[in-house]
Amino acid sequence: MHPPESKDETSGLAIRQFPFAPVLIVPLVQHLGKPSIAEVREGQEVRRGQRIARADGFMSVSMHAPASGIVRRIGLTPSIGGRMVPGVFLEPFPGSTQEIQGGTPCPLETATRNEIVEAIQDAGIVGLGGAAFPTHVKLKIPEGKSIDTLIINGVECEPFLTTDHRVMLEQREDIFSGIRYLLKVTGAQRAIVGVEANKADAVEHLRAGMPADLPATVEMLTVKYPQGAEKMLISALLGREVPSGGLPLDVHVLCVNVATTAEIGRLLPRGAGIQERVITITGPAVKHKGNYRIPIGTPLRFLLREVGVAEDIDRVFLGGPMMGAAASNLDVSITKGTSGVTAFTDREGRRTHRHVYPCIRCAYCVDACPIFLDPSTLGMLAANDEYARMAEDYNLMDCFECGSCSFVCPSHIPLVQKFRVAKASVRKAKSA
Ligand code: SF4
Ligand code: SF4
Repeated sequence: MHPPESKDETSGLAIRQFPFAPVLIVPLVQHLGKPSIAEVREGQEVRRGQRIARADGFMSVSMHAPASGIVRRIGLTPSIGGRMVPGVFLEPFPGSTQEIQGGTPCPLETATRNEIVEAIQDAGIVGLGGAAFPTHVKLKIPEGKSIDTLIINGVECEPFLTTDHRVMLEQREDIFSGIRYLLKVTGAQRAIVGVEANKADAVEHLRAGMPADLPATVEMLTVKYPQGAEKMLISALLGREVPSGGLPLDVHVLCVNVATTAEIGRLLPRGAGIQERVITITGPAVKHKGNYRIPIGTPLRFLLREVGVAEDIDRVFLGGPMMGAAASNLDVSITKGTSGVTAFTDREGRRTHRHVYPCIRCAYCVDACPIFLDPSTLGMLAANDEYARMAEDYNLMDCFECGSCSFVCPSHIPLVQKFRVAKASVRKAKSA
């Protein structure tokens, strides 16, 4: 599919530092898995980069203070999904130099594989492309499995977003450093950085700086949506097909987002943790669009006030319009998984709040689905809450929520939204 890219307004803008909000709210649930456990108390002073919450078991990560300041409160805050979750309310010190506190470095040369995995968990690193899956869990290769190729995902096919593009242009050395850690920990013989052809400058930049001793190449890919989905990327780069219900591991591949790779390369040598991330703030309703390095926990309301928005602002997506989620309210905070904020005005909004008509069995959605699911039938089953049947008979859990089916549907049926609900219900039933 070729949805309008809409990247031109920010792709040429260098990353800038975003100011600190008067209060930063760090949710303790920013990743898939168990919430982190706060290890600070109300009234405590903290340093920027200091660990403020520890991982609760393997399927969890640490959290770090996004600013030097004082913990005002530990209480509930709305999550991007709409649930109330525990969070740390931090008031930055106005006069502080905001120097970042590092920890014990994890040296590439001497660290063992397990030590690198632990360091990645301690640094609180999760998939920064939007999935927020704990990276160290991905890197724990089960007994009997092996990886021969590491794929670094620099595709960024989501319309509007230019975060990964700027990271590739501005953090080349961090990416190379991250690839070295990832090669060591996975045992892969080579790495391939996959980048869409609309980022030719990034391809050239990475190729020009590639160290001679790094077994990595940069491959340019056709521009099409959803080229950045792992299964699509593996097929495009290696011609291997991940089986239904399987993982890239089943075809000896591990995929890591390019911004995540850069954070591994940037943080591990300093023993530091994620306390900020790069995001694109864009969309027709935003006045000062750009790519920003923003403190984790910045409230969306403050962010929109800082960049300025049109009076008829109507809908705000955390992420891009295809795979992002519409913000449930303006009190949510920027988390590690927020790759962008895209805001639309009432005018574009009218196109998104369109009347929904019955399915006319045109099969456009079937043609659009890149993994050959039947979104039309899935949509009808979802309307009757037949979630278990969707999973058992129609491979619902293979859907990676690219939104292509919804995009082409002439009846404006919110198919991907229905599939998200259905998948969450199936997951909940399984874990019960
Ligand atoms: S959202 Fe799911 S069902 Fe729809 S096109 Fe994408 S993968 Fe297929
Ligand atoms: S594209 Fe929409 S109307 Fe056409 S078959 Fe799919 S769900 Fe039905």
